[in-house]
Amino acid sequence: MTRTVTAASAKCDSDLDVVIVGGGIVGLATAHRLLDTHPDLEVAVLEAAEDVGQHQSARNSGVLHAGLYYRPGSAKARWSRAGKPLLERFCAEHGVPFERTGKVVVAVDREELPALDALAQRARTNGVEIHRLGPEGLRDHEPHVAGVAGLWTPETAVTDFAAVCRALAEAIRARGGHIHTSTEVVDLHPTSQRVDVTTVPQGHLCAARAVIVCAGLQADRLLAGTARGAAAPDGPASGAAAAAANAPTTDARIVPVRGSWLELRPDRRHLVNGNIYPVPTGGGLPFLGVHLTRRVDGQVWVGPNAVPVLARDGRTPASIDLHDARELLTFPGAWRLARQHWRVLASELWADRLLSATTRAVQRYVPAIERTHLRRGPWGVRAQLVDRSGRLVDDFTLRQHGRSIHVLNAPSPAATSALAIGAELRDRAVALLGG
Ligand SMILES: Cc1cc2nc3c(=O)[nH]c(=O)nc-3n(C[C@H](O)[C@H](O)[C@H](O)COP(=O)(O)OP(=O)(O)OC[C@H]3O[C@@H](n4cnc5c(N)ncnc54)[C@H](O)[C@@H]3O)c2cc1C
Repeated sequence: MTRTVTAASAKCDSDLDVVIVGGGIVGLATAHRLLDTHPDLEVAVLEAAEDVGQHQSARNSGVLHAGLYYRPGSAKARWSRAGKPLLERFCAEHGVPFERTGKVVVAVDREELPALDALAQRARTNGVEIHRLGPEGLRDHEPHVAGVAGLWTPETAVTDFAAVCRALAEAIRARGGHIHTSTEVVDLHPTSQRVDVTTVPQGHLCAARAVIVCAGLQADRLLAGTARGAAAPDGPASGAAAAAANAPTTDARIVPVRGSWLELRPDRRHLVNGNIYPVPTGGGLPFLGVHLTRRVDGQVWVGPNAVPVLARDGRTPASIDLHDARELLTFPGAWRLARQHWRVLASELWADRLLSATTRAVQRYVPAIERTHLRRGPWGVRAQLVDRSGRLVDDFTLRQHGRSIHVLNAPSPAATSALAIGAELRDRAVALLGG
């Protein structure tokens, strides 16, 4: 098949094999895995932003998670365990910095011991190297930590996921793949043989034999758009009616949840060697509690917190997008979530405003950190799938509909797992292409 898309504004006259919507780490890792094993395929990544890896993939803690927390057998457990070594190898081969800084989980009192032991058991079941520590052992790894017991894994690492995205993009281009930035997909119209792809500002850009959608915060909308496209008339041979009958409607919605960090003053960075986490309580929500991360550039970040927001793509932490806000506030799942977890949400909102509240949370296990050591740091917005009952969908979620495959839920540790998620998406796409 001849290459026809050569520039962001070009149209293509013939089909591509695979179009990937979204140039975050998941979309890029998928393109990379496809071209790795199937170098003859025509693959294009279409990215709405001016560059790849600008959204969640650039605004995260930078932790390569070892896989302690995830339900054994879940996609999160399997793909983080498989994806982390792949990503470490990719970093080593492409000159992207990463470091195995390890991680301690600290129990500050005896009441936390049952949860700590359950976490150790889960980590072992997932195949993670994990060591039980007493107070002395804790201090061997993190001299400024105070706790009655803890866990240590040497496997946790840190990297710069934005740099990973840039290296993936380079590798994709080197293998003949196309990346089109400033190219927003506004319509996916599936027929029995292909999917027509319409973008802004290009119009009808191309058709593909398979489409993989890795659109992060816009995942639910593109899934709904595909369903609408399937329902639209498509001529006699299209099979569109049948496709519409199987349309991948979902009652779940992406709820944007901001995570903000505080930064430790440079002259206090010595208080943290690697990653320090509390025993997760979460209050029924899948967030890990305020933790400390020594990043690959030496900065130490505290957080992130978890605050639902009214803009998926806001320019400031408090941005409101009227369309996003209306959709969220008319979604019953959001209200049910708020009713079920109002205490946790209220305390997150409170801590978001007051540095002293976060300071107190961190002082529980690193008492030497004082409020004056912390200043406000960066923030990012998580794409979190919530169903109509108000339940946060915990595991990675893929949906397949005809010739399109959608990544509907890819929260943390999706950056860690990206190359394993990409391998799964590649296998599904190759099956669609007929092997
Ligand atoms: C606060 C925070 C901390 C985190 N910490 C960690 C961590 O330490 N370790 C870890 O493994 N994970 C972490 N994560 C999770 C991780 O960052 C995400 O799971 C991962 O980046 C998801 O990648 P993605 O490619 O699915 O999404 P994104 O990076 O959001 O990429 C989606 C892309 O799709 C594009 N797009 C959307 N709609 C369209 C369209 N219509 N047309 C074209 N392009 C479109 C967007 O512009 C975007 O570039 C964290 C996330 C957050 C927010």
